[in-house]
Parts: sequence; C-alpha cells; structure tokens
Amino acid sequence: MSRDCLFCRIAEGSERADIVYSDPDVIVIRDIHPRAPVHLLVIPRQHLGSADEVEDPSVWSSVMNAAVRVARDMGLCAGGYRLVVNCGAGAGQTVSHLHVHLLAGRIFQWPPG
Ligand code: 5GP
Ligand code: ZN
Repeated sequence: MSRDCLFCRIAEGSERADIVYSDPDVIVIRDIHPRAPVHLLVIPRQHLGSADEVEDPSVWSSVMNAAVRVARDMGLCAGGYRLVVNCGAGAGQTVSHLHVHLLAGRIFQWPPG
C-alpha cells in the first residue's frame, strides 16, 4: 500500500470509485474517462508499479481470472472484449499501479493506436 498511489487508495477504500467486482486480491472499477461503452480497470490490491515489476506469476492469474470472470458475468463474451496493459509512459501508462483495461461494447481497430 502506497499513500501516494491513487489505485492503492481506491483498493483500501479511502478514495471513491465505482467498484464492480472485488475479491481478496483484485478489484475491478469503472474507468473515470471511459474509452468504450464498457471500460473497466482490473487492479491487483498489491502495489506493483507496472507489468515490469511483476515477479510472482500468481498476480497475473488473479488479475486475468478476475477480468474474464467479470466479462462473463457482464455478458461481454458474445460481442467481444479487449484486455490491454499499458507498460511504461511510452505505451501510454499514466497511473503507476499495475492494471488491465477491460474494454467492450464497440468495434476495436487492430493494431491499437
Ligand atoms: P493507463 O493510462 O495508466 O493505462 O490507465 C489509467 C486509467 O486510469 C485511465 O484510463 C484513466 O482514465 C483512469 N483513471 C485515472 N484517474 C482515475 C480515477 O480517479 N478514477 C478512476 N476510476 N479511473 C481513473
Ligand atoms: Zn498502488
């Protein structure tokens, strides 16, 4: 837990967010600036600055299992959904706490811009 970190404060409950799923390891919140009709952020409770800082592979299993579970529960599979990890400023990462974007509800271009 880092007091300087927005997603740590959200995970701890001291900062407000629209939480759609929560378990002992992961929270899923609605993005405040959605880029698709459904735009969620899948966030491990443990503070890791980016994908590059992950050493324990169970972090990925917790995060990706939560993402797929939420996608299924929200009925997103038929229309398709996209999972995105921006790692580093050059790739567009703006919040330095690991998170996976879950986007759905529109057609997505490939490759992403
Ligand atoms: P990144 O750019 O690091 O890949 O993704 C960070 C995401 O966090 C962005 O999509 C941004 O809109 C979202 N975000 C930034 N501040 C807040 C906030 O205070 N609350 C929520 N729910 N999302 C936020
Ligand atoms: Zn954090």
